Amino acid sequence: MDFRPTNEQRLLRRTVREFAQTEIRPHIREWDDQQHFPTELVPKMAALGLMGIQFPEQYGGAGMSAIDYCICIEELARVDPAVALSVAAHNGLCCAHIALFATDDQKRRFLTPLARGEKVGAWGLTESTSGSDAAGMRTTATRAGNCWVLTGSKTFTTHGRVAEVMVVMAVTDRTAATKGISAFVVERGTAGMTPGKKEDKLGMRASDTSEVIFDNCRIPADQLLGGEGQGFVNSMQVLDAGRIGIAALSVGLAQGAYEAALAYARERTAFGQTISSFQAIQFKLADAATRIEAARLLTYRAAYLKNRGDRTTLESAMAKLYASEIAVRVAEDCVQIHGGYGFVKDYPAEKYFRDVKLMTIGEGTSEIQRLVIARRLLSR
Ligand SMILES: Cc1cc2nc3c(=O)[nH]c(=O)nc-3n(C[C@H](O)[C@H](O)[C@H](O)COP(=O)(O)OP(=O)(O)OC[C@H]3O[C@@H](n4cnc5c(N)ncnc54)[C@H](O)[C@@H]3O)c2cc1C
Repeated sequence: MDFRPTNEQRLLRRTVREFAQTEIRPHIREWDDQQHFPTELVPKMAALGLMGIQFPEQYGGAGMSAIDYCICIEELARVDPAVALSVAAHNGLCCAHIALFATDDQKRRFLTPLARGEKVGAWGLTESTSGSDAAGMRTTATRAGNCWVLTGSKTFTTHGRVAEVMVVMAVTDRTAATKGISAFVVERGTAGMTPGKKEDKLGMRASDTSEVIFDNCRIPADQLLGGEGQGFVNSMQVLDAGRIGIAALSVGLAQGAYEAALAYARERTAFGQTISSFQAIQFKLADAATRIEAARLLTYRAAYLKNRGDRTTLESAMAKLYASEIAVRVAEDCVQIHGGYGFVKDYPAEKYFRDVKLMTIGEGTSEIQRLVIARRLLSR
C-alpha cells in the first residue's frame, strides 16, 4: 500500500490549482450572483484535459486515472464548487455513460467532441415526480419505424439549457419495470426538444440546472445507447462512478472551507488574542482537518478500486455519504469561525455553506446512500 501521490499527480494538482486560482477565483462572486454558467471557461478547461479527464485519447480524452479525476475535481471544488459540479456532471454522467455503453461509432460521433470540450454534455434521469425513485419516471420512448419518439420531461438537469448533447433515460416497455427503461443520446436542436425552466438555486448557482422538455421528439434509432431495456441498469453503474466524483467534490469543497477558516482564525483577534488561540476554535479546525483526510482516503480507495475495474457500488456510496456529510459540517464550522463575517458575501464562507448542501442530495441523497450500503451489507 502506498499513500504517496506520484510526481505526475503532484504536478496535476498544482496545475489545476493554479488554473482555478487565476481563471476562476476572480469571477466567483459575479458568476454566483448572476447565475452565469461560464461557457467562456470551457475551452480553457478543455486545453487542460478537464472536459475528458478519464476518457481514452482515441476519443479526444486525456486518458487520466480515476484518482487523477478526483484530484482535478477536488482542486476545482476547493475554489468554486459550482464549476466543479459542471465538470463532474459533464465527465462523470454524460460522457461516462457514452464511454461505458456506446458503440464505437457512437463514441466517435458523440464522445469525441464532448471529451475535447467542443460540446457540453447533460444527463437526464430525474423527473419532477421521480428522483430517488428514478425507475418511476414517466418520459416514454416509442419506436416508430427508424426512429424513437420521446415524450416527457426531465427536471434538475445540470446543463439543461447549455448542453449540446444529452443522454436521456425513458420508458420503452412499461411492463418490464427497471428492465423497460432505455437510454438515448439526443442532440440540441432536435425538433421537439426544448429547454424548460432554469432553476433559481440556493447554491451551485454558476452551474446551469434546468428542465428539459421532449414533445414528440424524434431521434434516429441508432441513437439508442447500450441496448433496449438497459438504460436503468446502466445508469446505476454510471452513478457508482459518478458518486466518487461527488465525494471528491465534497472533499475539495471542505478543503477550501477549512483553509478559509484557518486563515481567518489566524487573523481575527478577540479579547486581545487571535481566535486561533482559543481551544474551542482549535478543536473545530482539528476535527475538520481529520474528517477531510478520512473522506479523502475513502474517496481515493473507491477510485483505486474503480481503476482496477472492480465494481464499487459499496465503496462509492460510502465515500459519497461520508464525504458529503462531513463537508456540510466543515462548511458550517467555517461560517461559525467567521462569526458575523461568515454571514456576508465579502468572505467565501457563506458560499461554501450554500453550495455544500447539494452534496447530500445530488446523485442520490444521503438516505439513498445508506440504503445502498445496507443492501450490500445484508446481501453478503
Ligand atoms: C443542482 C442539482 C443538479 C442536479 N443534476 C442532475 C442531473 O444532471 N441529472 C439528473 O438526472 N438529476 C440531477 N439532479 C437531481 C438529483 O439527483 C435529485 O434531486 C436527487 O436524486 C433527489 O431526488 P428528488 O429531488 O426527487 O427527492 P426525493 O426523491 O423526492 O426525496 C425527498 C426526500 O425523501 C427521501 N427519500 C426518498 N426515498 C426514500 C427512501 N426510500 N428511504 C428514505 N428516504 C427516502 C430523500 O432522501 C429526500 O430526503 C440534480 C439536482 C440538483 C438540485
